Amino acid sequence: MTIEQSLREVGGAVSAAAKAADRQPEDVVLCAVSKMFEAPIIAEVLAAGHRVFGENRVQESAGKWPELRKTYPDVSLHLIGPLQTNKCEDAINLFDVIQTVDRPKLARSLAKAEEKLGVKRRYYVQINTGEEPQKAGATPAEADALITLCRDELGLTVDGLMCIPPVDDEAVLHFGLLAQIAARNGLSGLSMGMSGDFETAIACGATLVRVGSAIFGDRPKPAV
Ligand SMILES: *Cc1c(COP(=O)(O)O)cnc(C)c1O
Repeated sequence: MTIEQSLREVGGAVSAAAKAADRQPEDVVLCAVSKMFEAPIIAEVLAAGHRVFGENRVQESAGKWPELRKTYPDVSLHLIGPLQTNKCEDAINLFDVIQTVDRPKLARSLAKAEEKLGVKRRYYVQINTGEEPQKAGATPAEADALITLCRDELGLTVDGLMCIPPVDDEAVLHFGLLAQIAARNGLSGLSMGMSGDFETAIACGATLVRVGSAIFGDRPKPAV
């Protein structure tokens, strides 16, 4: 199967899952996760008409996207990987949406960078629903305070919440918890679901699914 065929297939599965949940297909955004793939491969997906992409590294994205954007200025690029406070300006210059706001210090740096650069971006607050020590994100107990800080104190445009469930747990529990935290904070955006579980996530209310390998195939291993 070509990448374009995989893209169509995943798009169809997203629509079908939305309809099965009595939702509108256009209410679920498919974010194609292109991390580790080189520009010519990403260009195939762009040529097929897709415009929403996710990347997990600032530096890798800086090497690919400014050039791709020249041909496709209407791209919407999402950062879905961890962000260091000293990379906030780079991230704001490269990305339209930053999905990994996971701590107060980062939120403050982003607000400062927005002000300095004179631009606004859109954000998701990342929640560590499984409370895994090695994983980024505010714990469910810290979530409300971080959302309030971002939105009300710092004036960041918070679209919603994002989570990455533990690999060995029922994803549906984490999707449900994320939806609950969003609802009690009046947020409508839910970035949840990847190649293996995006249909479940859509049934739980996902408004954005982050799908990599189901579109692009297995990721190349990083060169050492
Ligand atoms: C890599 C990645 C994805 C995509 O994973 P697949 O299983 O390839 O669909 C989604 N979300 C995040 C945060 C990722 O890092």
